[in-house]
Amino acid sequence: MNIEVRKIIKALNASDGAGVKLKRSIGTPEADYIDPFLMLDEFGSENKDDYVAGFPPHPHRGIETVTYMLHGKFEHKDSTGSKGKMEPGDVQWMKTGRGIIHSEMPAMSGGKLLGFQLWINMPAKLKKNKPEYIYIKGKELGVHKDSEKTVKVIAGKFEKAEGSQKNHNVDPTYFHVIVNEGKVFTCNIPRGHNSFIYLLKGELKIGEKEHDRINDSNLILLKKGTKLSVKANKKTEFLFIAGKPIGEPIARGGPFVMNTKAEILEAIQDYNNGTFAKY
Ligand code: MN
Repeated sequence: MNIEVRKIIKALNASDGAGVKLKRSIGTPEADYIDPFLMLDEFGSENKDDYVAGFPPHPHRGIETVTYMLHGKFEHKDSTGSKGKMEPGDVQWMKTGRGIIHSEMPAMSGGKLLGFQLWINMPAKLKKNKPEYIYIKGKELGVHKDSEKTVKVIAGKFEKAEGSQKNHNVDPTYFHVIVNEGKVFTCNIPRGHNSFIYLLKGELKIGEKEHDRINDSNLILLKKGTKLSVKANKKTEFLFIAGKPIGEPIARGGPFVMNTKAEILEAIQDYNNGTFAKY
């Protein structure tokens, strides 16, 4: 069944960390939770004042964060002793499980910064796991390229290009797609997955039915279906993300996402007691 447009949502200007300007499109009143996706932020600017304060040490519990850098450099350090520098094209996939405390700071004093952070919920049975990290260098990312399009595979599989996440509980697809003018991108996803597109640049037509014109920095929530077809009216660049819904109740407490309010209070207590990131 063809995937059609459900709703087009303009990303909201927001700020997080120590005052980093960003555009939030999931995790907003209009798109609170697209199960299993809790948040999608586009962060960055050409003006260093908008990002230089970064995201100083803060905790997380119960989620996965997937950070994808397109411009600029970011440095990451956390309570497990892990650290790394992200350069353009790099991906950091973090499964926080029971808890980590980390900082995400720009490793640059000027120039253009652009990146994306996606939060994926974890089911109750994985929320108490030890944290896990995967760093994927841009040049190691699976890429499909032909005369009509380029598909960078952060998760899932496109033709022969494959992402790093095997046997993941939500079976995620995460593609960064660039389609030349007048050309069409198609792919299949498993039945029952929720999916969306985040348009970075260009103009596109999704599915068979008419829909409103879509501009940059817009989130396009998609109806259920198995076959996505996107035509680029001009050269177009977008993220396509899909995953299997978890179907559990969620309780949000800022950087903590659990199943119940009591578990959020427990996370706050653990953080205040200094037992948060002990395993
Ligand atoms: Mn964080």
